[in-house]
Amino acid sequence: MDPFHYYAEYRVLVCKSCQYGIQPGYIAAHLRGEQHGLTRQQSNEIAVKYADTDLANPAMEAIVPSDIVLPIDHLPIYRDGLACRRCSYVCRSLTVIKRHQREVHNERIGRGRRPEVIAWEIVWCQCFFTSIGQRYFRVQQTTSAVDQSDYADRLLELIHRQLDEKEEEEEEKRRIIRESDEVTEVSAWLDRTEWIRHLEGWDKSKIAQLVKPAQQEEQELREVENSVVRLVEQARQTILQKKVSVFTLQRLESFQPGRDAQKPFHANFGMDTIQRYQRIWKQLLVYVLRTVDTEWQRYQCTKEQQDSIKSIRIAIDNFREDNSEAMQQEMDKYCLQLCVTLLAQRLDHDEYESAVISFLAVMGLENILGTSRYRFKSSAQYTPILSGFIKMAQMLTLQYCFQQEEDNEVESCRVLLEELHSRFLTDSSATPMDWALRLRRGISRRMTMAGCINWIGDTVVYELSRTD
Ligand SMILES: [Zn+2]
Ligand SMILES: [Zn+2]
Repeated sequence: MDPFHYYAEYRVLVCKSCQYGIQPGYIAAHLRGEQHGLTRQQSNEIAVKYADTDLANPAMEAIVPSDIVLPIDHLPIYRDGLACRRCSYVCRSLTVIKRHQREVHNERIGRGRRPEVIAWEIVWCQCFFTSIGQRYFRVQQTTSAVDQSDYADRLLELIHRQLDEKEEEEEEKRRIIRESDEVTEVSAWLDRTEWIRHLEGWDKSKIAQLVKPAQQEEQELREVENSVVRLVEQARQTILQKKVSVFTLQRLESFQPGRDAQKPFHANFGMDTIQRYQRIWKQLLVYVLRTVDTEWQRYQCTKEQQDSIKSIRIAIDNFREDNSEAMQQEMDKYCLQLCVTLLAQRLDHDEYESAVISFLAVMGLENILGTSRYRFKSSAQYTPILSGFIKMAQMLTLQYCFQQEEDNEVESCRVLLEELHSRFLTDSSATPMDWALRLRRGISRRMTMAGCINWIGDTVVYELSRTD
């Protein structure tokens, strides 16, 4: 099968599986590379077909559509592009778009002036090349009813990126006084999370390893990771294919016990968002299976959780002996059961009894680049983890209810969801979800106070804070 698609209009050959344009003269080399791993002969056979194809050289000319076209097939769509309103320039970094405003349009930002109207907007973009000649171009937004929550998610991401970049810029200036400088701000955040108390006395660099992806030799954990991927995809399909009613989805979207949200829960995130989100749950299950019954276990397991873990281990053994689909389903079933039992834990004494909250503390650690030391993430860096955890918790619970109905364990998926929703997916339920929701609300409030976000009615408006 031909791995390429030729766009005559742009004179670009795009690799359909790698999703980028091939530099002219590198077709055979690309096919021999590790993504495809073809033999020299196979690569040459394909390359020869394109010997006479006219290919533009991205090092010599800008290869972008002259209009705002529909998204081009076989290329990723980035929903976080920043398009200049004064010219056709597009990028995906706030620092870069600000520099563009300064250098190309002579715009001064900050410096004693009132901030002017923001001269760029969030758009969808694509690019043909990922190395030499990489150039983003704007494309049309195809889902015309761009979902508000998706938009809000992107906006939040942008704000986080902005904060991160701003922090990086200031890092240099602050380095010397950093420790004392940060005391008040950081301690409020760490007070709230109590990470220091929970992780006290542990070597940060060692516990950070506990949430690393499964290694080659950790067969069991790798099966669990694969299960999570399948479960998330099943959940997504359950929603997208409308296998459950809108009532069920409106309940799922709500964080109030016994109440429906105004809008149904949606699952049309971009593929990269899904992957980021599901990675968090992969890490969570890996963390639990790595630490349970070891000296690293800093939480308590309920009876239901222990049973699920036992069943998972048996199912994995069976699956490895008999690679059948039925065994795989068995494995997925118990993984999903573990997810639900983790969420269902009532935290009446200490919230850190929960494996989930213990895991979320470990996820707060980040490696200090270029060293072997670790520090705690800032609240802004941490919000996407909470959002991912929350969204996936909702989806997995829904899938569990759906599955229970499919297996004739319950009569109605909706009735079961209503019950579980009130028990552990809402505010004031004293569960891991409740904890995550509170923490996230605390962060939004802090960011609002810091002047990064303003609310006008239901719309969130972000402002650039001055960098000087
Ligand atoms: Zn390729
Ligand atoms: Zn411009």
